[in-house]
Amino acid sequence: MPAVQIAGMMPAPLSRTRLGWLAALLALIVLAGASWLGHRHALARSFEELSHRGQNTLNLAESTIQGQLERFERLPELLADHRAIRSLLLAPRDPDLIMAANTYLHDVATLLGASDAYVMYRDGETLAASNFDKPYSFIGGNFAFRPYFSDAMAEGHGRFYALGTTSNQRGYYFGAAIDVAGQRLGVMVIKIDVDDLERAWASEDLRIIVTDPEDIIFLSNRPDWLFHAFGALTPDRLARSMETRRYADATLGEIDFQTRSDRAGFRLLSGHGRDAVASEYLVVQSFMPQAGWTVQVLLPTRAARMQAAGFVALALLAAGSLALIALILWQRRRQLALRLEMEQAAKDDLERRVIARTTELRAANAALQGEVSERRAAEAELRKTQTELVQAGKLAALGQMSAALSHEFNQPLGAARNYAENAQLLLAQDRQTAAQENISRILNMIDRLSRISRHLRNFARKPNQQLREVALADAVQEAQELLGWRLRKTGVTLEVDLGPPGLQVIAGPVRLQQVLVNLLSNAIDAVEAGEMRALQLTASAEAGRVRVTLRDHGPGVPEALQPRIFDPFFSTKEVGKGLGLGLSISYNILRDFGGTLSVRNHPQGGAEFTLDLQAAAPTAEAAE
Ligand code: ADP
Repeated sequence: MPAVQIAGMMPAPLSRTRLGWLAALLALIVLAGASWLGHRHALARSFEELSHRGQNTLNLAESTIQGQLERFERLPELLADHRAIRSLLLAPRDPDLIMAANTYLHDVATLLGASDAYVMYRDGETLAASNFDKPYSFIGGNFAFRPYFSDAMAEGHGRFYALGTTSNQRGYYFGAAIDVAGQRLGVMVIKIDVDDLERAWASEDLRIIVTDPEDIIFLSNRPDWLFHAFGALTPDRLARSMETRRYADATLGEIDFQTRSDRAGFRLLSGHGRDAVASEYLVVQSFMPQAGWTVQVLLPTRAARMQAAGFVALALLAAGSLALIALILWQRRRQLALRLEMEQAAKDDLERRVIARTTELRAANAALQGEVSERRAAEAELRKTQTELVQAGKLAALGQMSAALSHEFNQPLGAARNYAENAQLLLAQDRQTAAQENISRILNMIDRLSRISRHLRNFARKPNQQLREVALADAVQEAQELLGWRLRKTGVTLEVDLGPPGLQVIAGPVRLQQVLVNLLSNAIDAVEAGEMRALQLTASAEAGRVRVTLRDHGPGVPEALQPRIFDPFFSTKEVGKGLGLGLSISYNILRDFGGTLSVRNHPQGGAEFTLDLQAAAPTAEAAE
C-alpha cells in the first residue's frame, strides 16, 4: 500500500513546481513587456514635455528675431529719402556731399543702433558709409555680388544675412533702392548686428541655432557649431554659398550628426557611436519665410531619458513591492492555514486522548466502585466482628469481675459463717468471752464487706460533683492522717515536699484525698516487705499546671503491665488484698478534674506516679 501511495503522490508536487516556474517566467515576460511599454510611454511623455518647452523657446527666439528684423525693415527706405543721400547719388564724386552723407549715416546708425549704414552706387560701389572713419570702412568697396543689392536694384527691396566681407562680422542686411527722378541710382543699406540675438540665448542649456537653406549654421548660442553644416558639404552646396560670398572667407565645417524621427514622430539629432545618446537632442524647428531662416531649438534628451528610465524603475520597484507584499500575504495565509491545520490536528488528538482517558477513568471508576462496595462489605464485617469482640470483652470483664467479687465476698462470708457457728457452739458451752470474740470477728468481716461495696459504689458513681479550688497541702494532710496508723504499723516513712507554699488545684476535695490515699496505700503495699521503706511526695507548679509525684522504693511496675494497671479489676495482689479498682478509679477521677495520672519506673528503682492537675488562679500567681 505505501508504495502505491508514494507512486501516486510523486508527480503532483513536481508538476506544481514546474507550474510555479512557468508562472514566474510568464510574469517576468509580462513584466518585461509592461516595462518596455511603460518606458516607451514615459519617454513619449517626457519628449512631449521637452518638445513643449522647446516650442516655447522656439516661439520666443522666433519672435525676438522677427521683432529685430521688423524694426529695421522699413528704415533703409526712409533713409534713402534723405536729401544728403539723393544729392550724393546725383554727384557721387563730390567730396563734400560724401562727407555730408557720411556724417548723416553715422548719426543715423548710432541713433538706430544699427551696425552700419551705407549707400551703394548702382554699380555696387559704396559711396558713403557710417563707418567712413573706421579701418574697415566700406567706402570704395563693391558688394554687387550681394543679393540685398541685386534684389533691391531689381525689385526695390533686398535682404540678406552674411558675414561681412570687410568687417568680418555677421550681420543682416536690409537694402532699399534709391530712385531719384525716376532713375534707380543706388541702394541704401543698413546692416544690423546679430550678436545681440545670440546673447539673449546664451544662458540656455539647450542649443538654439539658425540655419540657412544650405543647412549651414549661421546663428548659434554655442560658438562651436557656428559656420558648420549638418551632413557633408557637397561641392554644389559650397558653390551656392560661394556665389553670394555669404560666409566671406570663413572656413565651413561639418557636424557629423544624424537626424532621425522616433516612433512617436519626434525629430532627434544624435552623434555616432558611444556618445550617440549622451549628445542626443530633440529638435523643434520653424522656418521663417521672410528671412529664409530655419530656427531650430535643440534640447538635450538625456534628462528626459533618465526621467523615463526613472519612472520605469519606480514602476518596477512598486510592482516589486506589490509582489513582495502579495508574497508575504500569501505566505502568512499559508502559515495561518498550516497553523490552523496543526491546531485542528492537536485538538483532534486531544479529543481522542480525552475520550480514551474518559473511558479509562470510567473503567477505573467502576473498578473503584466495586472496591468501595467490597470495602464497605469488609467494614460491615469488621464492625460486626468488633461488636462481637466488644460483647465478648464485656462478658470477659463481667466474668473477671464476678470471679473477683465472689472471691472477695465468699471469703469473708465463709469466715463469718465459721465464726457464727463457733459463737453458737461457744454460747451453747456458755463460753461467753470466746463467743464475744467470734462475734467481733464477724463484725470485722461485715465491715470489710461494706468497705468493698463502698468501693464498688464509688466506681459506679457518675462524676457529677462540682470542682473547685482545693489547697493541695490540705488534701495531703488529710490523706496522711487517714493512713497514719498504717505508716506507723509498717514503719514506712513519708517525706512531703510541696514546693511553693499555697499551691491550689482545681479538684473535688474528697476525691483528691481518695486518690492520694489510693496511691499512698499502694506505695505502702509495695515497700512494706522491702528494705527501704520510704516514700517521697513532691509537688511543683509550671505553666498553669501542678504536678504531684509520689515515688516509692518498691519493685516498680513491670513495663508490660504499665498499660494495664489502670484497667478496672486489674490486680497482681493476692485475693483478699486487692480488688484492682483503686488505680482505675483514681485515673477516672483525675480525668474528671481535667488532669492525668501516669506511671513510670524511677531510673534508680521504684515506681513513680504523677498527677497532673489544673492549677487554680491564685496558685498560678503564686507560681509566678
Ligand atoms: P489493688 O491495689 O487492689 O491491686 P490497684 O488498682 O490499686 O488495685 O492496683 C493495681 C495493681 O497495680 C496492683 O495490683 C499492683 O500490681 C500495681 N501497683 C499499684 N501500685 C503499685 C506500686 N506502688 N508499686 C508496684 N505496683 C503497684
